[in-house]
Amino acid sequence: MNLLVLGPQGAGKGTQAKRISAEYEIPHVATGDMFRALDASTELGREVGEFMARGDLVPDALTVEMIENRLAEPDAADGFVLDGFPRNLAQARALDAMLGGIGRVLDAILFFSISDEIGMERALSRAALEGRADDTREVIAHRLEIYHRETEPIVEHYRTTGKLIPLHADRSIEQVWSEISEALQQVVAGVGSTEPDKSGAAGFAGGGAQR
Ligand code: AMP
Repeated sequence: MNLLVLGPQGAGKGTQAKRISAEYEIPHVATGDMFRALDASTELGREVGEFMARGDLVPDALTVEMIENRLAEPDAADGFVLDGFPRNLAQARALDAMLGGIGRVLDAILFFSISDEIGMERALSRAALEGRADDTREVIAHRLEIYHRETEPIVEHYRTTGKLIPLHADRSIEQVWSEISEALQQVVAGVGSTEPDKSGAAGFAGGGAQR
């Protein structure tokens, strides 16, 4: 199952993506984690660290190449849950081309919607808990601005696929998880089927999913 979690920071994507990864035994591929794991003493690590510290996007070429290599690893052969990528239309198109090239498609795009206020408060408390140096109020506000400008347009890109599953991300972790697992059961049923989908692609997420 090839999945993507989409939404602003503080929406709980990472938490839910980790749970999906564990339940469905597919790797959680998070570009932010991959960038944070780079060795800061290398030139690449230093360069990426500067973009992250400002809350700016790392250049597309670097990000796309990293994802292409990661998805080619054997553990991603049966699926993956992408988190933090794509973050703009160019990356979304690169992902479409990349998947098309290996005969794969996204099975569902989980869209976490949440207000900026709640997202900001959640991101700030996570920053305090995890000691994430790039998560100051100013940097989070900058990243939200980039989210609205660069990332939000890809929601419409994915809505046209009929595979977008909108979630109420302001609810509790358990409530969001139950929305996700219900929707994914239907996705799994669709992925497992060898019959072409005659039900209409938008219908699979349990009625009302295409709000
Ligand atoms: P995250 O942990 O997803 O919030 O990402 C932390 C930081 O990593 C972002 O603020 C960006 O600087 C960088 N980053 C993560 N994913 C991407 C991406 N897809 N494209 C460009 N930069 C990214």
